Amino acid sequence: MKNQTRAIDTKLVHAGEPEPRIAGAVTMPVFQSSTFHVDGDVGYHDQRYIRLNNTPNHQVLGQKLAAVEGAEAALVTGSGMAAITSTLLTVLAPGDHLLAQSCLYGGTYDFVTQDLPGYGVQFDFIDAEKPDTWETLKKPNTKAIYVEAITNPLVEVADLDAAVAFAKKHRLVSMIDNTFASPINYRPIERGFDISLHSATKYLNGHNDIVAGVVIGRADMVQRIRHKLNHYGGSLDPHACFLLHRGLKTLALRVRHQNQSALRIAQFLQSSPAVDKVNYPGLESHAGHQRAKRWFEGFGGMLSFELEGGEQAAAMLVERVTIPLSAPSLGGVDSLITIPAKSSHAGLTADQRRDAGIAEGLVRLSVGVEATEDLIEDLRAALDAK
Ligand SMILES: *Cc1c(COP(=O)(O)O)cnc(C)c1O
Repeated sequence: MKNQTRAIDTKLVHAGEPEPRIAGAVTMPVFQSSTFHVDGDVGYHDQRYIRLNNTPNHQVLGQKLAAVEGAEAALVTGSGMAAITSTLLTVLAPGDHLLAQSCLYGGTYDFVTQDLPGYGVQFDFIDAEKPDTWETLKKPNTKAIYVEAITNPLVEVADLDAAVAFAKKHRLVSMIDNTFASPINYRPIERGFDISLHSATKYLNGHNDIVAGVVIGRADMVQRIRHKLNHYGGSLDPHACFLLHRGLKTLALRVRHQNQSALRIAQFLQSSPAVDKVNYPGLESHAGHQRAKRWFEGFGGMLSFELEGGEQAAAMLVERVTIPLSAPSLGGVDSLITIPAKSSHAGLTADQRRDAGIAEGLVRLSVGVEATEDLIEDLRAALDAK
């Protein structure tokens, strides 16, 4: 297929688009129709209906996303959590056991710890940077291993190749949440993962204006997950499909800018006397730097840091910056700043946060596409203010 040999930038714009274009439309139109004319015999999952995740907007997006990550198939979902939960509930059956990276995204962590046991699924958390400790946690009924490309908010990079090798050795299904890396920086399927998951709310859409998710993998696997999702009802509305489709076209431009900008901001913060510690995979001081350098094409747009002045200084900084908005979520064109202990990790106890390495004054920054110099000047002024 000609699409396969093209660069990711070209695939983002052209892969999966209808040929010939519908009524000549350069941009894929929105098919705002819940139901579609049936001609002849069609099975339940193949009647076109928005909830069945098979309208023209769903299909074109699926083809584009599959091409972008070098996979057979992809499925868009109503949110990142819809992608994650329907996948876990498809892969895991009662009596199965899951190995999952500790320090998961909050929603995933809650689902694994609070909901999966109710479905008869056991789990254990692994230190994803220490593959030699995984074997002892594996059980005869272990079915799958679940990791994240870059973790939140410490932006750790696990031993991802080891997770693939471990899954192959023990015939487990390997799953990865690739949200923080995006396919520009890391393409898990090409490195041997079975399933790549995204909150498309973040980089893939990139404009902080919709919630969406993606499942990418082998065609038969994605088909099974789609059928499960059809029952749960987590489909993406066609208009949100349109926005995601539009966002995807500029993914390469946005993420490459964010990679460069975040690296320069991380270097600036590291050189500032007001800053105690900077977490960014692009810095040599970062524990996952060598792994990220080996596998990633860029280090991403997310970083976190601790200030000399601790919690109080962090609160002042968030108040004083004038460009990044204090808001949860990430990966969009607008820079966003948060204090995880007060937002994404507020549900944990102070002890749990300390065990996870999340200082009370840790600041997380999602670097947008504003001018790097402006963001650095804004941070400098906020750090210097007395
Ligand atoms: C936001 C996020 C999710 C959940 O996605 P939603 O679109 O909010 O449902 C899952 N994983 C990661 C890493 C995220 O950042």
